[in-house]
Amino acid sequence: MKCDPTLYRAAEPSLAVKPRLIRHLFLPPLIIALMVGLGFIGFWTSEHFGIRSLGENGQRQLELHARAVESEISKYTYLPSLLELETSVPQLLADPTPEHRQTVNDYLEGLNRRSRSRAIYVMDTTGRVMATSNWRDVDSYLGEDLSFRAYFKDAVRGQPGRFYGIGSTNGEPGYYLAHGLEEHGKIIGVAVVKVRLEAMEERWQRARLEAFVSDENGIIILSSDPARRLKSVIPLSDEVKEKLARSLQYYWFPLNELQPLARETLAEGVEKLTFPANSELQPDEDDISYLAQTRLLSDTPWNFTLLTPLQDLRREAINQGILVAVAFALFAFLLIAWNERRKVLATRLAAREALQEANSQLERRITERTADLRASNERLKSQIRERRQAEETLRRAQDELVQAGKLAAIGQMSTSIAHELNQPLAAMRTLSGNTVRFLERGQLDVASTNLKTINDLIDRMGRITASLRSFARRGDNKGQASLGKAVDAALQVLGARVENTALQIHRQFADVQLLIDQTRLEQILVNLIGNALDAMHAQPQPQLWLEGEEFNGKYRLRVRDNGHGIDAEARKHLFEPFFTTKPGEQGLGLGLTLSASLAAATGGHLGVEHPAGGGTTFVLSLPLVSPLSAEPI
Ligand code: ADP
Repeated sequence: MKCDPTLYRAAEPSLAVKPRLIRHLFLPPLIIALMVGLGFIGFWTSEHFGIRSLGENGQRQLELHARAVESEISKYTYLPSLLELETSVPQLLADPTPEHRQTVNDYLEGLNRRSRSRAIYVMDTTGRVMATSNWRDVDSYLGEDLSFRAYFKDAVRGQPGRFYGIGSTNGEPGYYLAHGLEEHGKIIGVAVVKVRLEAMEERWQRARLEAFVSDENGIIILSSDPARRLKSVIPLSDEVKEKLARSLQYYWFPLNELQPLARETLAEGVEKLTFPANSELQPDEDDISYLAQTRLLSDTPWNFTLLTPLQDLRREAINQGILVAVAFALFAFLLIAWNERRKVLATRLAAREALQEANSQLERRITERTADLRASNERLKSQIRERRQAEETLRRAQDELVQAGKLAAIGQMSTSIAHELNQPLAAMRTLSGNTVRFLERGQLDVASTNLKTINDLIDRMGRITASLRSFARRGDNKGQASLGKAVDAALQVLGARVENTALQIHRQFADVQLLIDQTRLEQILVNLIGNALDAMHAQPQPQLWLEGEEFNGKYRLRVRDNGHGIDAEARKHLFEPFFTTKPGEQGLGLGLTLSASLAAATGGHLGVEHPAGGGTTFVLSLPLVSPLSAEPI
């Protein structure tokens, strides 16, 4: 089976290799870049929406806790103004005797205990503390001049004094609420309540809330994280710092800025702050980011800021980013695998189609060839039939020719046969007449001799007629023949012609069994020897050589004479029917043709040689029955 090679020709190398090389070179970096890019987008989106969600939640928390701070502060708002109602206070301010002072001290002490404020005290219009709830303490405010305090300055002008500061006496932080005490429309003194708001801080810490409150100067006055306390949330100039230091509002504490690593404003009142990690407490932690949401506390110049840590959100966003990158990598891998699979399938499909095409082409060709072969087979068959018919016709013609040849030979021989038969008949007539006479004379022995001679003559005549009959009979292609017997029979048929000449016969052949009908072999030999005798009729010393030899499973008999030979022209037509050089009725020109046909019919051959020394040699080759059984005669 041979397929069309063009069907399987590979693509041009330059066209097949280059895109693959380019793909292999650029695809991995591209996929990695896309992974990183998409991962970052995933991270960013997750963080963005996370912050937004946190922001919404934080806003509620901010509102809640800011209100808590506001309510904590507003609890004490009216406390200083209540002192106007207490008659002992204006009395003291009008007449600051020790008795009045003690009365007010006791009153303030009790009021302070009940209201759970830090301290309540009353100042005159010069800023000196006239009475205080902590009059018993060593660091009591009593007699102290606090006219430099801003809340005093506001209150003495009739404005509400609100102030966060660190006490100059004991360095304790507190929220001061001041109120100008009026009598008949005139400020006679100032009442102050100092409140501690640290409880708020403790509450935030317990609730694990990160928050702080910054005052009008931007200084953190309350913070869930003590480290942030008294830090500035806005940048402070040296001038402002000095001013604040001089006011002793924050006592002598250094006012540093709260310095975040990064600050990003997301919306009004919403910032993203990043602080360095506390390396001592959390050595493994990264920098800490917060969502800072700020709101002004009503009735104060303060801001409440709620800090929501973003670590969890960040971690979540990183995970989301990694997830997106991994999902993309998986998707890319699946896409590549699918593409490769598709290509493999396409290649297989193409190969299968090519194979099918080749197969169908092959089948078409086989069908065409088969049809051709069938047609030529039919032609061959019809030729064989014609050949057989021709052979049959030829064989029948040959048989007819053989028969005709025989009849012709009989015709030819009839004269000599008649002569041959007449001679013994005449002799027999004479002998029989003599025998009668000898019997009458009683010469029995002579009569007996004559009768014996007559017997011999009858035998001879019988032989002549028998050979003639056998010659005339139709033979067949089958059967076996003895070469010796055939030669004898032929010589007997030709007996008269042989005996009338001084012929010398040289018999140098073996009595082999040949694969030919006995009669046919005799016919061939009669023809060959008869021709030789004809050729030697002018030869004074005629000689006939019958020489045999085995050759290639056949027996080759040479019939050689020393006759006149055959001239060059006659040699060309020897085996043609009716070719003869013999004058008149002597030759029919069928002998050699028939002999060659008979030899060929048994698988043998008849040929001719022309010896240099003269004469003619006919070579008869016939198949042996058993090639090794030949014995010389
Ligand atoms: P016919 O004997 O009737 O002529 P053949 O076929 O037997 O026919 O022979 C054809 C011719 O071949 C003969 O006429 C003769 O001229 C020639 N020929 C055959 N045998 C010999 C021979 N032994 N020597 C010379 N000529 C021969």
